[in-house]
Amino acid sequence: MKPFTLRLRFHGDLNVFFRSKAGDAAIERQLTEKTSIKDVIESCGVPHPEVDFILVDEQTVGFDYTLANDASVEVFPVHDHGTIPTDKRLQDVGISRFVADGHLGGLTRSLRLFGFDVAYSQNADDRQLLEVMARENRALLTRDRRLLMHSIVQHGYYPRSQDRDEQTIEVIRRFGLSELIAPFTRCLRCNALLGEANKAEIMDKLEPLTKIYYDQFRRCPDCKQIYWPGSHFRKLQKRIEEIRSRVRGEA
Ligand SMILES: [Zn+2]
Repeated sequence: MKPFTLRLRFHGDLNVFFRSKAGDAAIERQLTEKTSIKDVIESCGVPHPEVDFILVDEQTVGFDYTLANDASVEVFPVHDHGTIPTDKRLQDVGISRFVADGHLGGLTRSLRLFGFDVAYSQNADDRQLLEVMARENRALLTRDRRLLMHSIVQHGYYPRSQDRDEQTIEVIRRFGLSELIAPFTRCLRCNALLGEANKAEIMDKLEPLTKIYYDQFRRCPDCKQIYWPGSHFRKLQKRIEEIRSRVRGEA
């Protein structure tokens, strides 16, 4: 087969997968055999769950499109689609259940604080993460891009920032979750939904001052952790409000 040349341009924040941190990333590839667009994109280091829209010579294509001739390829992330029609997009938004890899404990607790369902085990290996993801129809959160490239992954996200709050904002934006925020409804330790707790029933588990000053309690039905609006509560509320306004683009 006659060798052919692809000119690829990666738009928006897909440049996080390249060394150039400013502007779009451009790459040229020489190929000698027919290759799917998905394989070409991933060979450049960009996992397929990060790609929302592809143009080959200005035509919209899907991941299974096969390249066999010289072409110019434009690759767009989820948040750079401008006026792209919904039915041409390759990624879903509105997924609100996740599984996070063992390095994302901070992000996991933060998303749970906002009420989101995040499966997490610090020692989970790749195979276990993919199993939970597939069985429970969760989106995979990981900074291991090789894992995101696994063909079984349908929905996933590579947090750009290393900072927990920034990552939280990224995930809420990426999956369009701002309307689903429900703070203080989920256990930060184990992910279960919290229930109301009767003060009389948990009295023996409370510190003396907590007994005196607080009347409203929630308890995790699984790990039995008790939550109440104590001194840490205001700090958390402030953090939640800050993140909410950032998500809305106010700050
Ligand atoms: Zn719990």
